[in-house]
Amino acid sequence: MKRLYRNGRIATDSSSEPLKCDVLIEDVRIIGVAETIESVDGCEVIDCSGSVIVPALFDLNVHIRELGREDREDITSCSEAAINGGFTGMVLQSDTNPAIDTGSAVQGVLDTCRDKSRIWQGVYTAGAITKGGSGEELAAIAAMKSKGAVFLSEAGDPVINPQLLRRAMEYARQFDLPVATHGEVKELSGKGSMHEGAYSYSLGLQGIPAISEEIGIARDVRLAEFCGVHLHVQQVSTREGMSTVLRAKERGIRVTCEVSPHHLIFNHSHIGNYDTHYKVNPPLRTEEDSVALLEGLRNGWIDVVACDHSPRTEFEKNQDFASAPFGVTGLETALPSLHHHFIKPGHFGWDVIVNRYSTGPRKFLSIPPVTIKEGHLAEFVVFNPNATVRFAREYLRSKSINTPFLNQTLSGQVERVIFRGAELLVR
Ligand SMILES: [Zn+2]
Repeated sequence: MKRLYRNGRIATDSSSEPLKCDVLIEDVRIIGVAETIESVDGCEVIDCSGSVIVPALFDLNVHIRELGREDREDITSCSEAAINGGFTGMVLQSDTNPAIDTGSAVQGVLDTCRDKSRIWQGVYTAGAITKGGSGEELAAIAAMKSKGAVFLSEAGDPVINPQLLRRAMEYARQFDLPVATHGEVKELSGKGSMHEGAYSYSLGLQGIPAISEEIGIARDVRLAEFCGVHLHVQQVSTREGMSTVLRAKERGIRVTCEVSPHHLIFNHSHIGNYDTHYKVNPPLRTEEDSVALLEGLRNGWIDVVACDHSPRTEFEKNQDFASAPFGVTGLETALPSLHHHFIKPGHFGWDVIVNRYSTGPRKFLSIPPVTIKEGHLAEFVVFNPNATVRFAREYLRSKSINTPFLNQTLSGQVERVIFRGAELLVR
């Protein structure tokens, strides 16, 4: 079975502008990539005029909710949301209930993926740093590694006790596992619900100061340096936090970091009318922070984009701002929103998407990047930059709709998703 994707332009890691190319696939593999490929007998031809063919995306920070809160999301709905957004791979976070903190829990979630996810070959899981994510006792690190956990993460909570984090890092290094943390000092964040600054004062909300993240990242970087482990800083939100990572890199410390689309696009001024769809942790910071993060993403100080997909029910998000839980969904809105806000206006090119949202995350896990070249598995997205997308309930495959883009229309749409030759999505 052959399929020819004709007249599209391929996004690569080396060119801001996609290059005109036809792509021919047979079964699971790409068998030809050239400026023009003639159709052969029995070959299905798909016209991709005007569209960009993008290596499928991969997200390192996805909160799955199964087991425990399947009313928010489950493995099937999460995988379908991923496909809807152009992702064929992701790393699940450990904060399910019970938490993913043992070898059998790792095995269990991967087995469920095999049964329930159309992209199970691309789904990996992180393991908790501490038992139950409670911060009191180390999780079963060796057993989780042996069952396939790809890194350790407390899924958004800091490990408060530095001695416990040190022990975790020492184990992790033995097993060659990266340790991922949100840089945060809980005592400084307190009960804050948004960034501490002019807007938190005017809204009368308790703030989370930038220094909470800055000191948290600095501590984790120093511990990682001391233990010789690879540290991955999740969801960096401040300019100073990013600079700390950069300075550590320059000193030769093994540290990487990620930024979310929402921290690049929004800032604390967007909270305006106490809209809980802008309540995230770390919080949306200042416009200067977003501008600095954008620059960091462009020039490689930030290694990857990760959306921190965090489904919450409408009931949960309909509480007042201070009481509502943190988190937004992100898998379905990530690519169109990055296109709308950054690629279309020319702030960065397609190479940034390929490098930081497809190749980068896979490199981080030491798995082969997906490449649109002859002989490689066919795993790509047909993205139409001229179409528009409206994120209505009917469009979203996630069970949850806690996104600031709800009912907004953005430019650019994921039209097809090809995974190992199969068309998982055809719009
Ligand atoms: Zn997260």
